[in-house]
Amino acid sequence: MNYAPPSPTGNAEAFAFDNSYARLPQQFFARVAPTPVAEPWLIKLNRPLAEELGLDVATLEREGAEIFSGNRLPAGADPLAMAYAGHQFGTFVPQLGDGRAILLGEVIDRNGKRRDIQLKGPGQTPFSRRGDGRAALGPVLREYIVSEAMYALGIPTTRALAAVVTGQPVYREQILPGAIVTRVAASHMRVGTFQFFAARGDMESVKVLADYAIDRHYPEVKDAERPYLAFYKAVTARQAELIARWLHVGFIHGVMNTDNMTISGETIDFGPCAFLDAYDPKKVFSSIDQVGRYAYASQPAIGQWNLARLAETLVPLFDDNQDTAVELANDALGEYGAIFQRYWLGGMRRKIGLAMSEEGDLDLLQALLTAMHQGEADFTLAFRRLCDSARDPAADAVLASTFASAEAIGPWLQDWRQRLSREQATPDDRATAMKAVNPAYIPRNHRIEEAIAAATEDADFSLFEALVEVTANPYADQPQFARYQAPPSPQEEVQRTFCGT
Ligand code: AMP
Ligand code: MG
Repeated sequence: MNYAPPSPTGNAEAFAFDNSYARLPQQFFARVAPTPVAEPWLIKLNRPLAEELGLDVATLEREGAEIFSGNRLPAGADPLAMAYAGHQFGTFVPQLGDGRAILLGEVIDRNGKRRDIQLKGPGQTPFSRRGDGRAALGPVLREYIVSEAMYALGIPTTRALAAVVTGQPVYREQILPGAIVTRVAASHMRVGTFQFFAARGDMESVKVLADYAIDRHYPEVKDAERPYLAFYKAVTARQAELIARWLHVGFIHGVMNTDNMTISGETIDFGPCAFLDAYDPKKVFSSIDQVGRYAYASQPAIGQWNLARLAETLVPLFDDNQDTAVELANDALGEYGAIFQRYWLGGMRRKIGLAMSEEGDLDLLQALLTAMHQGEADFTLAFRRLCDSARDPAADAVLASTFASAEAIGPWLQDWRQRLSREQATPDDRATAMKAVNPAYIPRNHRIEEAIAAATEDADFSLFEALVEVTANPYADQPQFARYQAPPSPQEEVQRTFCGT
């Protein structure tokens, strides 16, 4: 077979690239082109996102298979693999890097925001170690579905611009169709990017990276008395908010290694991620998380652990006096718990229809979660049905049917109504406000698996399309999509998810 290698002077002018990362010092990345594939086919182009990015949609529709497979490099691309390190399940690995991802470049979107455009699964890079640099179709569809669902839920996240099949197999435990997802991110800097340079004692590069991150994501901190400390605090606050938002929708990231935590505050790397079915704070889906390090309710604490690792890389920039610098870092990290709690409690109050705050609200919320845990209530459906109960107590029976027994929730509903009596909103307004924060539709694990199986085994993408469509409007009632609202039957329940690397 004879492939023309991707040419850096390709003629597809769909992107107005401006590649700031490629202008950083050479130790930040390795220049590398995607490896051409046999027979690419475009599964999906995300047209609304392409428009938001100011891309030439007509060209992408015509040449998408070639461009998003890496077979044709768009004009202005400067493809590279980023260097980073990271703590994986608590163990430090000094060199990871983009082993199966290549940054094509950056564009300025319609809102003036700089966005990275990256192919995930485009072949080997200098960071591939023993990996093939490829991705299988299942994980590509999972990332497309879940990242777009997170966006529609209103949660900061990387996004999916396109998915292609490559026409080539990948060899995992089974032989699987190869695929590539095009990821769009505010940036791909991670906690692990800082660790890469700090671990080498290269504080000069840590500083260059911090200045770059500040310019790109936190320009407001430049006026602070201690800009690097203010930067660190800003990252901390964004991550606290992000993790609170995950908890509000029952999201379990699954692999919160420091290389999978962004500096921008976006959710990244949808590997073994999953949404809760029945509420269980200790829930873990990931097959590789044997001790539950990244369990649902452990995520806030792990976020703080990761942020402590970030602090370790930045401490020398906080103050010339090391003792002072460490003290400043500890104080900043110490604020994380309260910031997280504020975001979490605020969002949870809204989920149960409280506009005001009262002392006893935390207890009320914890009592609900305990009832859900004991009653094995589906997290998403219980909160959605609670919206109907807010409008009319006649809906309580339907809500109660979400629980193993009606007694599991009856007493709590009485306490809740007592608390609601001290609120201002009418029942209708309250129910409407609650529906805007309690999704009807999430990408349920069994529906993701079903869509992946149909695509992988039968090249049938209709279930993938339907899941993307329904989760694009998670807060609207879409009666025609009832099957996507229902929790799994015991036979349908997914117990384990896999990284799929
Ligand atoms: P992840 O599990 O996606 O966070 O990846 C962890 C590390 O493994 C990163 O450095 C990846 O680039 C690398 N990696 C994962 N899968 C592959 C693959 N198929 N080929 C090469 N590198 C990989
Ligand atoms: Mg990763």
